[in-house]
Amino acid sequence: MSSAFKNCKTLMVTGASRGLGLQMVESLATGTCSPGKIIATARDPGGAAALRRLAEKFPNLHIVALDVVSQESIEKAAQEVDQLVREDGLSCLINNAGINVVANFETVTAEKMLENFHTNAVAPLMITKAFLPLLKRAAARGTGMGVHRAAVINMTSLLGSVELNWGERANSFKWYPYRTSKSALNMVTRCMAVDMEADGILCMALHPGWVRTDMGGPQAPLSAEESISSVLSVIGGLSEKDHGSFLHYTGEPLPW
Ligand code: NDP
Repeated sequence: MSSAFKNCKTLMVTGASRGLGLQMVESLATGTCSPGKIIATARDPGGAAALRRLAEKFPNLHIVALDVVSQESIEKAAQEVDQLVREDGLSCLINNAGINVVANFETVTAEKMLENFHTNAVAPLMITKAFLPLLKRAAARGTGMGVHRAAVINMTSLLGSVELNWGERANSFKWYPYRTSKSALNMVTRCMAVDMEADGILCMALHPGWVRTDMGGPQAPLSAEESISSVLSVIGGLSEKDHGSFLHYTGEPLPW
């Protein structure tokens, strides 16, 4: 893992009950360069047994309840995190929680589109807005750009790339709600990058690879450990040049 995390005072991950969110928290907590405070959010901490076991072992890991589609829950979580981080503010926000509402041209409905949009595109925007005072507080204490200062990472997917959904590549994963929600998240990322630049808050979108989680399924080529080891080294190495970017987990740029 990048040593950059040793200079990251406070980091928060949404959707840390399982899958990539849980792996991120575990790798950060057990790594040699763990952030000062790791805030793992879950919509139902009581049901997140693996996460609670980790928190018992690592005193710098704090669990906060957050249902990303509830504005009330977002505001309550922001207050709780404010109490945890105090004058340090929030150095790194990873918007990871996501869903895949599978539907093709025949089966897609307005409800399925809106449900996927709410979790994958609207929630990261509303969460970042609610946590902006904390991000600004962290940014005010540093210089340059990256997780040593303040950063927002949106976990997106290459399935959200408009350019890549053409020709041979377009014949698989015909998921209207998921693909369009991630395209929207990519634009949310660029819009927020423009708006947060003056405050020195880095903002970018990252594709974690196709990974064996509940969402990725058993046929995916990458384990959660493999994906997150690479994801964390990309996040740890982010700087000014990566502000507003859309990157593959290998660190390569992806077409929008
Ligand atoms: P999983 O389905 O394994 O886990 C999803 C996580 O999101 C769970 O912790 C889940 O919590 C949480 N979540 C969903 N809805 C909410 C909500 N309303 N409030 C709070 N938490 C919520 O997915 P992955 O770990 O595989 O995916 C993580 C991210 O990476 C997603 O954004 C996904 O789109 C992206 N991604 C994944 C790929 C893959 O191959 N796995 C490929 C490309 C992108 P709960 O346990 O409560 O349901």
